[in-house]
Amino acid sequence: MTANNGIYIAGRWENGTTAIENRNPSDLSDIIGTYGQANADQLDEALSAARAAQPVWWRAGVQKRHDVLMAIGTELMARAEEIGRLLSREEGKPLAEGKGEVYRAGQFFTYFAAEALRLHGDLAESVRPGIEIDVRREAVGVVAIVSPWNFPVATPAWKIAPALAFGNAVVWKPANITPASAVALTEIISRQDIPAGLFNLVSGPGRDVGQRLIESPAVDAISFTGSVPVGRSIAAAAVTNMTKVQMEMGSKNPMLVMDDADLDLSVAHAANAAFGGTGQKCTAASRLIVHENIHDAFVERLVDAAKALRVGHALEDGTQIGPVVSESQLKQNLDYIEIGCNEGAELLCGGNRLERPTDGYFMAPAVFANTRNDMRINREEMFAPVTSVIKAGSYEEALAIANDSEFGLTAGIMTGSLARASHFRANMRAGCVMVNLPTAGTDYHVPFGGRGSSSFGPREQGRYAAEFYTSVKTAYVAAGDVS
Ligand code: NDP
Repeated sequence: MTANNGIYIAGRWENGTTAIENRNPSDLSDIIGTYGQANADQLDEALSAARAAQPVWWRAGVQKRHDVLMAIGTELMARAEEIGRLLSREEGKPLAEGKGEVYRAGQFFTYFAAEALRLHGDLAESVRPGIEIDVRREAVGVVAIVSPWNFPVATPAWKIAPALAFGNAVVWKPANITPASAVALTEIISRQDIPAGLFNLVSGPGRDVGQRLIESPAVDAISFTGSVPVGRSIAAAAVTNMTKVQMEMGSKNPMLVMDDADLDLSVAHAANAAFGGTGQKCTAASRLIVHENIHDAFVERLVDAAKALRVGHALEDGTQIGPVVSESQLKQNLDYIEIGCNEGAELLCGGNRLERPTDGYFMAPAVFANTRNDMRINREEMFAPVTSVIKAGSYEEALAIANDSEFGLTAGIMTGSLARASHFRANMRAGCVMVNLPTAGTDYHVPFGGRGSSSFGPREQGRYAAEFYTSVKTAYVAAGDVS
């Protein structure tokens, strides 16, 4: 089986020597397409093409880079409905979320179009008379991007946009179960007036093409989003080659619900953050730490909210929760339900596979109660429409539980107390803290990332992205005498 989608190298679409079939997780009879898989020679060709194109792009200047990024972003926003439908069809998130994601991807490109113009440096007085110093940012070179399936357009967008804005070349290995979104984004980039080889798509299995890419000494920087085990192997390879690396990985985001919080709002935010995107978000609220004074009332309302959610085909009107992305992810989710029950957690609703008119990976949103923070369901990332409630006797106890995790991506508190909110902001060990908001849902112009096992390396997004996608050069110039 060969396919002519999925591989774009040195300004040309190429055939794969092997191919994969892409099926709709809402309806397994719906085949979206067949996508080529790059081989080792094609990957090496992409890396060489990127190396040759990068200086040309750097020299093209900031106005050119601005214009190209603006064009990509504007097209993504204009085609959000069409590409969002494709994204939802292959990933399984409800159509409104698919459209929203593509629009957001466009915003990343237009934001970084402007950042390309703001590549400001510094001037300094030398401690030695007669010498001038300036500090400038330069492109890093060839950036390898390895991205996941849960945000198959937005995540690569927030990596590709700053990479190109700051003058780098890109070799992109997307997740293999969402190839259609990768091809749609590449198709837009391929029509821009950029040097052949500046941007390359090399689809293929992570353990094969991905591994070879991140181990290549021809790569100057690696930006990765995905699981912790793969992140660890990327970090090891990066150290071997002394390659710059930036990684976003797992999470176990806590949401504190205090006894002075608005109960209805807390339930709405918890359900949104726990089950939105079928729980397949690194920002999902998976540990709900609830004050004992309101615990029973909160749990009762949360279970009602979970049961009321409409699970179905991602493209059907009224669907609030789409299918799980794949058979293996669904199996992992159901295994965690069993693990939780065996650990003594009380399953109050959901956690089972659902039948729908089409054959898909549908799962009922689950709420566990009477859980302890040392249970596996509260330690390990599940990436499932499953949330756990942990009862706490006080704010201080809730904060200690929240901080007792290897992860630290996002964290939230629901409270009417400014004092508690301020204390939480200052003392929660996380990259993003949310006060009276869901743990999921971030802006595109400010940094995103976490602490502990959640992140490694410089932050992504906003003007902080320049730290990773540029290299700093300090120049000393002895101007000499006029005469
Ligand atoms: P992975 O970490 O396996 O995949 C993420 C990306 O890395 C994909 O493009 C994948 O390719 C690639 N990859 C896989 N193995 C290697 C390797 N050895 N070298 C280089 N690249 C590689 O995550 P999964 O998709 O398998 O999801 C598993 C779990 O990871 C989820 O259940 C969830 O817990 C977590 N996850 C977290 C995300 C987050 O945003 N924090 C995002 C996605 C997953 P390929 O698709 O071909 O395997």
